[in-house]
Amino acid sequence: MTDQPPPRTWSEGETHLRSILATVPDAMVVIDERGRIMSFSAAAEKMFGFTEAEVMGENVSLLMPSPDRERHDQYMGNYLGTGRRKIIGIGRVLTARHRDGYTFPIELSVGEARVGDQRIFTGFIRDLTERQHAETRLQDLQSELAHVGRVSEVGTLASALAHELNQPLTAIANYCEGARDLLQGEPDADTLAMAREALDEAAQQSVRAGQIVRRLRDFITYGQTERKVELLPRLIAEANALGLVGSREYGVEVDVELEAGADRVLVDRIQIQQVLLNLIRNAIDAMIDRPVRQLTIAAAPDLGGFIRVSVADTGKGIGPEMAAQLFQPFVTSKEHGMGIGLSICRTIIEAHGGRIWFEPTPSGGTTFLFTIPDAGALHE
Ligand code: ADP
Repeated sequence: MTDQPPPRTWSEGETHLRSILATVPDAMVVIDERGRIMSFSAAAEKMFGFTEAEVMGENVSLLMPSPDRERHDQYMGNYLGTGRRKIIGIGRVLTARHRDGYTFPIELSVGEARVGDQRIFTGFIRDLTERQHAETRLQDLQSELAHVGRVSEVGTLASALAHELNQPLTAIANYCEGARDLLQGEPDADTLAMAREALDEAAQQSVRAGQIVRRLRDFITYGQTERKVELLPRLIAEANALGLVGSREYGVEVDVELEAGADRVLVDRIQIQQVLLNLIRNAIDAMIDRPVRQLTIAAAPDLGGFIRVSVADTGKGIGPEMAAQLFQPFVTSKEHGMGIGLSICRTIIEAHGGRIWFEPTPSGGTTFLFTIPDAGALHE
């Protein structure tokens, strides 16, 4: 390390600039071309929990969770070598790491400048956990999630359907209760006939409820899905950022572990992000009142041209009575749950030719896994 030039320091003119930038509400981090931190604004100190003095000269990857943490030097090397921009001037939704270890969603925009003979990079970071900041960017992402694909209208559709379903379900409950009352004591033939009729009605109503549910599933499955080659790490990063919105107070720690060869998938991005988002939200819900809140998202090559993605939590786990029917629609343990999330996930994954299942996480909690087509071979 001794052959590296010392980190740049600031001149007086630059100090003036810094005082102006100190008032910018977004966090600002300036790095040199080796990734070493040259400036760390007051807002950045607040956002990441480090003081400027502590991070000066340190590698900026300190502010990132895995795998970016290990790969950032390589990202910079690639850019400096090829000039190909993956982030500079573009702005991306990513995940950052606080000093205390928890991760949070951010939007990062990076600008590049030349100072003397050196290139410097300025990152403006917006914390997306704070809703008011998140709104614009999230609206973009969510409206993509909400309009582009057909799965999209599922939210609206689901509440309409829930409403519609209430009718047959209430009718079923009424008919069954009626039949039960009629069957009390020693019913005569007429009473028995009435009870039979009530049960027939109940059966018909449940067929109707089933049709309503099927309509929802058809709506999702037969939609025009647009499959393209997508970059899995990016897809995960965005879904992750969206999934973490509003969860900062729970201090969820997130790890993303991507194995080599699990980069490109052939999918409908919106649909797969919907799956990830749903699994991440469920994982967070399951961990809220647990002492350890660790979310691990991993991807690895699987057999037969598929990539396996897993979302593991340290939550309360899934009891056997729930486990048997988890992917059925309208199965929920949550007060405000719809219970259709996992059913939709399964429909989407199966429409992609993959499968979805869950296992207990060895250290406690649940791991959901699914497979999606690997597009890597197409580009080799
Ligand atoms: P909802 O989230 O609306 O309840 P889902 O279909 O997404 O609908 O989930 C159904 C049920 O499965 C949840 O209510 C919860 O009981 C259970 N569940 C899903 N994911 C997890 C998880 N990671 N850990 C524990 N339970 C889970």
